[in-house]
Amino acid sequence: MFKALVVTRDADKKTAASVESIELDQLPEGNVTVAVEYSTVNYKDGLCIGPGGGLVREYPHVPGIDFAGTVEASEDNRYKVGDKVVLTGWRVGESHWGGYAQKARVNADWLVPLPDSLTTHQAMAVGTAGLTAMLAVMALEDHGLKDSKGSDAPVLVTGAAGGVGSVATCILSNLGYKVAAVTGRPETADYLTSLGAGEIVAREDINETTKRPLETEAWAGCVDAVGGAMLARVLGQLKYGSSVAAIGLAGGADLPASVIPFILRGVNLLGIDSVMQPYENRLLAWQRIASDLPMDKLETMIQPATLEDLPALGKSILKGQVKGRVVVDLNA
Ligand code: NDP
Repeated sequence: MFKALVVTRDADKKTAASVESIELDQLPEGNVTVAVEYSTVNYKDGLCIGPGGGLVREYPHVPGIDFAGTVEASEDNRYKVGDKVVLTGWRVGESHWGGYAQKARVNADWLVPLPDSLTTHQAMAVGTAGLTAMLAVMALEDHGLKDSKGSDAPVLVTGAAGGVGSVATCILSNLGYKVAAVTGRPETADYLTSLGAGEIVAREDINETTKRPLETEAWAGCVDAVGGAMLARVLGQLKYGSSVAAIGLAGGADLPASVIPFILRGVNLLGIDSVMQPYENRLLAWQRIASDLPMDKLETMIQPATLEDLPALGKSILKGQVKGRVVVDLNA
């Protein structure tokens, strides 16, 4: 028997989450069984702990869209017992039971071997949010961001105090880029500065709509976790030929944007999806995380949690109230 956060749904479609003891044979099909050490709390987890948000196909359900741990049994020759592994994406924690259990059974194709220099705890301090931040930075660099180094224009990070934003701020600053961090929580300014933000931008300054499709060219690029009106506004403020890596929609899915920045400033809108990333991309991104993310700063982003804390944390993250990264210790 082992512990898991199990979400059930009654006949009136009302969901409830509680920590229960479950058996190995209750786990879904898969060719690798992992003793899960750490998982995290992401926006999607908030949805899956609660009413599901259309992500969960079947109940009872075990959420947790990412985890890191040690291989306990393997029918796949790429993994042997004792290997340290990390999993993000592939709808684990949504349509397949995820990381909010002391054991998980998954398809070997979904796993990545943990780089030697990362612990399972560090891997989950990074988690899906950090992997996505790294993929966003890699996409911006593939589209010329490196050429902006040394220029006065910073890279803008929106939703900066959240999980993706915190890690993106840290990676960009560590790579030598100037970073401007947009936040709706002024009390996080010291935290964001400690992660490497050189400038704090108030959310309301950039969230207001404007009729002007082009404004002063202010940003060398952008990692955008917010979407909606904020993304539309940022498009008109990007420098000529620069890019925004759009990763999230914490501020809404509608994009009230003009086509003019794309035509007259040649800006690029790069969509980043961490869920279906091929193995090679995930491996490269984890290797770059191990080399480009300062682990001492990562420590300052962590809020520790246990399985019992998850129902409340699920609600907080949906309200945009979580700062940095919540790391769930499955053995606590
Ligand atoms: P968090 O909740 O940790 O961070 C989101 C941040 O966005 C908040 O902390 C807040 O930052 C800001 N924010 C929240 N609501 C609003 C609003 N109404 N208007 C403006 N800003 C707002 O979530 P994550 O960082 O984990 O994820 C961010 C987004 O990215 C989510 O939509 C998530 O689903 C998506 N995502 C996408 C992935 C992908 O593969 N593309 C992978 C991971 C996440 P502040 O307080 O600083 O203003």
